[in-house]
Amino acid sequence: QKEEWAKLVNEPTETEDGHTVELAANIGTPNDLDGVLANGAEGIGLYRTEFLYMGRNELPSEEEQFEAYKEVLERMQGKPVVIRTLDIGGDKELPYLDLPKEMNPFLGFRAIRLCLEKKDMFRTQLRALLRASSYGKLKIMFPMVATVEEVREAKAMLAEAKEELQGENIEVSDDIEVGIMVEIPSTAAAAEIFAKEVDFFSIGTNDLIQYTLAADRMSEKVAHLYQPYHPAILRLVKNVIDAAHKEGKWAGMCGEMAGEPAAVPLLLGLGLDEFSMSATSVLPARTQLRSLKKTDAEGLVEEAMKCATADEIAELVENRGFIIQ
Ligand code: PEP
Ligand code: MG
Repeated sequence: QKEEWAKLVNEPTETEDGHTVELAANIGTPNDLDGVLANGAEGIGLYRTEFLYMGRNELPSEEEQFEAYKEVLERMQGKPVVIRTLDIGGDKELPYLDLPKEMNPFLGFRAIRLCLEKKDMFRTQLRALLRASSYGKLKIMFPMVATVEEVREAKAMLAEAKEELQGENIEVSDDIEVGIMVEIPSTAAAAEIFAKEVDFFSIGTNDLIQYTLAADRMSEKVAHLYQPYHPAILRLVKNVIDAAHKEGKWAGMCGEMAGEPAAVPLLLGLGLDEFSMSATSVLPARTQLRSLKKTDAEGLVEEAMKCATADEIAELVENRGFIIQ
């Protein structure tokens, strides 16, 4: 099977009926790029920059961040690279930031919420990203967005940083897409409003599922409620993709679900444009997608939308032969 997969390293991800999607990879550091390139990913769909900030005693400098972002952009040779701004808090702590102890860290002061308050820290990251932008195809993504105001404020800070750099005669790309993670139910439900403010969406199912089902993604006691195939998740994902397309924008997914064999046909049928996953899942997903027809996947979604439970949906995908055994 591995040999079959390897043949597809340089092949496009095209379904049997000629529909093309992008298969991208998630990374945590530039060291992950070897695996990304070896597995034929067509881009980076999620670069989790928090690892640059972790396991140390102080914030990384602008220069240090610039070097890391530049390395990823250069090595991807013009393929799209979605870099997510700092998503710290929740399960990821930064001892040197002295963050408040909270009862519910997953519902608390984290990610974009923290960046919009610690503006110097955020500005440093934005400057590093913009400086790196001339070395490849950069797309910037903000995490944990709950309101349109957050998007506007983050974009305003980005525009300010760009002007500042241009004033310093530093080259910045004119072609940087700016998008958001859709991982909070408010944003998924109101996606049509957010779609007017951004260039793309990337659905973060790891968090979207825990917030929608109110089931902590780390808790074993409620793991049975952490349901990727819950009818509500299917509906939210559909709403996000439809809203993006209505505005002529693209929608991706960078949560674990994007690489699951049972989810791939549903996401194809829903019209997902970009699937981002761990590098080792890319070739199996490409193999599966090349065996599918988009029209069949759309029929599958129509049936799945009538199911009442996650089990029914998962069984439907399996019974209809959409998963390669
Ligand atoms: C997600 O929430 O789906 C996601 C990709 O982000 P993280 O796993 O880093 O929270
Ligand atoms: Mg997340």
